[in-house]
Amino acid sequence: MPELPEVEVVRAGLVSVVAGRRIAAVQVLHPRPVRRHLSGPEGFSAELLGRTFGEPRRRGKFLWLPFTDGDAVLAHLGMSGQFRVNEPGSPDARNTRIRFAFDDAGPELRFIDQRMFGGLSLSVGGAELPPEISHIARDPFDPDFDLDAVTAKIRKRRSGIKHVILDQGVVSGIGNIYADEALWRSRLHWARPADSLSRKQVRELLSHAHQVMADALAQGGTSFDALYVNVNGSSGRHALNVYGREGRPCKRCGTPIVRERFMNRSSHLCPRCQRKR
Ligand SMILES: [Zn+2]
Repeated sequence: MPELPEVEVVRAGLVSVVAGRRIAAVQVLHPRPVRRHLSGPEGFSAELLGRTFGEPRRRGKFLWLPFTDGDAVLAHLGMSGQFRVNEPGSPDARNTRIRFAFDDAGPELRFIDQRMFGGLSLSVGGAELPPEISHIARDPFDPDFDLDAVTAKIRKRRSGIKHVILDQGVVSGIGNIYADEALWRSRLHWARPADSLSRKQVRELLSHAHQVMADALAQGGTSFDALYVNVNGSSGRHALNVYGREGRPCKRCGTPIVRERFMNRSSHLCPRCQRKR
């Protein structure tokens, strides 16, 4: 599952590709990625025709491609959704599902999705913020992110701190990997009740989450999953400190990293640096 830095890499890569370009044709090669669109694949193609893209936007892990008319295409990357840019007439990569051609006859935008949990949908009135994701809180990269308000909200919750920072209605963009990384940087155990933490601890945790994602972004994302690639087909090279490092020494104290069960996933932590107390 791509997390915020990976989605931001995709967004940034799409700016020069789509902004200001008018759609000349949309070919839906498989109906599943447009299953959220009520009028089906033909309707999706017909309704997008002739529209001009603005600059792609993102909130948390959600990406949308606004049109200059106020609507947008909301992209669900799911487990394996990707965008690629290809010259018209060039062969499709495997699992190409949707192809956009533009009236300038320049490079096409193609949506590729192996497992097809993702897809694209037309979001009416969604250019500024798609109504489908209006319940998603601002992420730490958002200029209007309110650190004090989010800190206060988190400290009212009794659940374990990791559970709370993964709640996309509280703060968006933090997924399992970066939650583990931020908790390790903050020396906090994932199960610590959120309301037992000081304001300083929560502020520091949010800053670490922001920083670890910014570091990943600066390095083109994290190469944890070969399915995830940017629009050029290359993956990032950000190194992780704790996630996926079970049994290997903590980079701070040398104690072997452990993996604990968390929801249906796992949490990686240093049992010495991150005590439950
Ligand atoms: Zn340690």
